Amino acid sequence: MADSTVATVYGIYFFLFGLVIGSFLNVCITRIPEDLSIVSPGSRCPRCGTAIKFYDNVPVFAWIWLRGKCRSCGEPISVMYPLVELSTGLLFVAAYLEYGITQATVKWLFFTGLIIVLTITDLRVRLLPDLVTWPGFAAGLLLSAFVPPSGGFGQSLSWRLLHQHLQPNAAGLVDGILGAAFGSFLLWGLAAGYKLVRKREGMGLGDVKMMAMVGAFVGLRGTFWTILLGSLLGSVIGLSVVAGLYLSGWQRGLAERGSRRGLGTVNGLRWKIASQYQLPLGTFLGIGALAIVYLGPLIGGQWPELRGILR
Ligand SMILES: [Zn+2]
Repeated sequence: MADSTVATVYGIYFFLFGLVIGSFLNVCITRIPEDLSIVSPGSRCPRCGTAIKFYDNVPVFAWIWLRGKCRSCGEPISVMYPLVELSTGLLFVAAYLEYGITQATVKWLFFTGLIIVLTITDLRVRLLPDLVTWPGFAAGLLLSAFVPPSGGFGQSLSWRLLHQHLQPNAAGLVDGILGAAFGSFLLWGLAAGYKLVRKREGMGLGDVKMMAMVGAFVGLRGTFWTILLGSLLGSVIGLSVVAGLYLSGWQRGLAERGSRRGLGTVNGLRWKIASQYQLPLGTFLGIGALAIVYLGPLIGGQWPELRGILR
């Protein structure tokens, strides 16, 4: 077979594998925050409890032929399910295109799965479960020892400070530890600063633990870019959501009642209520991390002069 045919076949395999993994990630996303087992029982309709037949559980397609409804009771099935499956499939193809069939691919597929669970769980219920971040952190360090994060700060630091070359596995591990330390301390500092300015808790320890995990995978340089991208996205989208809520007259009734009780002007109160909107920071950090893993090498290939900065 021609090389391009082989690549297409592998691409399709990766896509189908991604769809199946995405289906498992949906189980994690819906069950972990509720402290339910992710192994048993099998998938059930949350409303009527009917066990879902294997043919109604086919990723993406089942949702389409069921027209997004439970076969027994007609309860709508969230569009989140096919979207998570599809995104996982596409990201798996991206991993294949970017890293081929290598150890690096295994590392980034694993990372992608963890990030999808965290990103969607934070968006749905504003939680970044320890059950994902802690094992993810440990796996990240282990995988970084085998597939060192690009950037290679471990090696250059060791040379500068100790005039010694580290063994590649040790250098990868050091990079992972540096990334985890930098990411978690920076997020912890941001959380403390936020509390000081806004006089309320806005960011949880979940974000700190998530960045320890991300840092363990992507190393120091990747962590820096992830936080920069994530907080930028978060500020732009977060502010737009608050402004959108305000402009759409969200919670006007509540503000009017408050105003009648002399708590302030209606518009002042409406702004206050809208700005209570809690930002899913973990979601934005997750998007930033995936952009670094998948777009970083692409940008580096397109503009070699940026390679040293990005990765
Ligand atoms: Zn049902």
